[in-house]
This record gives sequence, structure tokens and C-alpha cells, in this order.
Amino acid sequence: MSKPRIHILALGGTIATRPDATGAMQMGLGADDLVGAVPLLATIADIEAETVSRVGSHSLGFDQLHALAAKIRSLKADGVVVTQGTDTLEETSFVLDLLLDLDIPVVITAAMRNPALTSADGPGNLLAAVRVAADPWVREHARALGVIVTMLDEVYAAADVLKVHPTRLNAFASTQTGPLAALVEDRIVPLALPVRDAMNAVHRRLDALTGDGAAPVALFWMSIDEPGRLIEALLAAPDRLGYRGAVIGAMGGGHTPERATDILIKLAAAVPTVVSPRAGGGPLLEKTYGGPSSEIALRGAGLIWGGRLHPLKARALLETCLRFGLDRKAIAELFAGWN
Ligand code: ASP
Repeated sequence: MSKPRIHILALGGTIATRPDATGAMQMGLGADDLVGAVPLLATIADIEAETVSRVGSHSLGFDQLHALAAKIRSLKADGVVVTQGTDTLEETSFVLDLLLDLDIPVVITAAMRNPALTSADGPGNLLAAVRVAADPWVREHARALGVIVTMLDEVYAAADVLKVHPTRLNAFASTQTGPLAALVEDRIVPLALPVRDAMNAVHRRLDALTGDGAAPVALFWMSIDEPGRLIEALLAAPDRLGYRGAVIGAMGGGHTPERATDILIKLAAAVPTVVSPRAGGGPLLEKTYGGPSSEIALRGAGLIWGGRLHPLKARALLETCLRFGLDRKAIAELFAGWN
């Protein structure tokens, strides 16, 4: 039986670093180097490898992700594996999931430990990601799974995966739904399919639209005694500092410090403003608490409810909606799917 054709796209990140003369790790390895370090890949798939960039994922931008999505759409492959840095993997995977609706697996992987360390996880994660992309169950359910992330022998949904530790090997988790599959020996063990009604609604809405340039979204994290002065500064600037939307990392079930509430409501009148749980998961409350900065008051004042979307993922969705020219009503409808 012929092996599946898996296309590897290397963006950079720790998985692609090598030491410079001082011993500091620098971006340097390309896709061929990554593949060359894992001879077993050739037993699983016919591999095509391509170096897209050599940057840390903290330096990636929305424009590059749109270009990457276009490239993935154009590939003639049975599956795609993207390697990148871990720092923004929770965002990049979600952006790609918003942009792609394919019937081939798209798997993202990375490394927590660099190639100079004895316990480097890059080669193992790459092997696991290719196994996942080539697996018959994953291929059969590719559209239902959406873009997935494989780290340390687990498979996560892009909408839920979070980086939960800056350095340790088990730095990724899907805190709301748990992993979709596990890897053991040379097998993929399916565990769950994600609920994708909200994501499917995004795909239907964006289908046939084209994005036309960046739509910067400000992220404001609410914390005890926050006076909201940065929001005041944004509103006072003639061009709103270039921001076209905002996400509020709200406390608890969707609350903000009372002293910042008036300015938040003014912000929501000026640009689409999404309230998202700073606790990382949701859903948020809708109708429990009263009072000026309660979820009832904020929802009534026109703030868009981000539901269970982590603020980073809410920001990615809002940027995407604004870039594609959706109006406030259409944006609120899409976010409603995550409530
Ligand atoms: N700073 C690196 C990056 O995100 C970290 C990593 O790859 O783990 O590119």
C-alpha cells in the first residue's frame, strides 16, 4: 500500500534552533534538518519538507498566518505538519483553524527543549505529528477534528489548547475538553471529536470573503483596582491608536472592576469589544449577577460575550472578523456560538 504524502512546513521556533559561538540558541535549522534528524519518518509517510521561515513564534504575525493558510490550501498532500515555536502555538493553531476547512489533517507541533539538550523533544514531537497526520482515523475525521496540535504524545483541538507552563515538557493542555487522541507505541488512540458548531459557523460566514489587511485588536486584562486609564488614552486618541477592536480579559463569570466599567462601556460603543474569561475557560455567566459591572449590565451595554473562548483566542477571532469586514452584528453572532 502506498504511504500517505505528508508535507512538512517549518516556521522556526526552539525546534529549529542551534547554538551560536557563545552557546546561545539561535534560529537556524530548516525543514530538511528537522526531517534528517528523524529517519523513521520515511517509514510512515512520503515526506516533502519546506522551510517557510526561521523565526521565533513570538515574532509571527496574522499576515504570515494568512499566507501560511493559503500555502496549505494549495498543497497536493494527504496531510500537513507545521513546525513552529511554542510561545504562540495556542494562537497560531486557532487562527489556522479559523481560516482552514480542509479534509486533510493539519497538525502543528513544536519543541519545549532545544536540540542542544539531552532531552530535546523536537524529534519525538515531529515523529508523533507525522504519525498523527498519516493515521487513518485522523485522516477520515480530518474535517471534524479541524487543525490539531500534537505535543508530548497527546493531540489537542486548536480552540482549546493552551500553553500552561513556560519551560517544562508537559507545557500544553486542553483544559476544557481534554485531549482528542493519545499516542502509544506506534498507535493513535482516538478519545474524542470536538464540538465544532461555532467553528463551522465561522467557516460558513468567511467563505467567499477575502481579508483586506490587518485589524489590530487591543487586549486589556482586568485585575483588582484597574482604573481603565489605558482605555481612556485609546479613546482620546483621534485614530484610537489604530485599534479596531478590543478584548477584555474579565474576572470570574464576566466581571470588571466597577471603577473601570464606564470607560469599558464607552470603549464598546467605539469599537467591537469582546468580554472573555481571564480564568482561561468558560462559559461565562449571562444572567446571575446584577450591579453596574455585572454580566447583566455589561451585556446590556453592548459588550460582546466571548463565552468559553480564552482571551487570546477571542482576540484572534475578533481580528479575523474585522479583517474580513464583518459588522458588529455578524461578529456578535459568531461569538454567540462560543457561549
Ligand atoms: N521562543 C520560542 C518560540 O516560540 C519558544 C519555543 O519555540 O518553544 O519560537
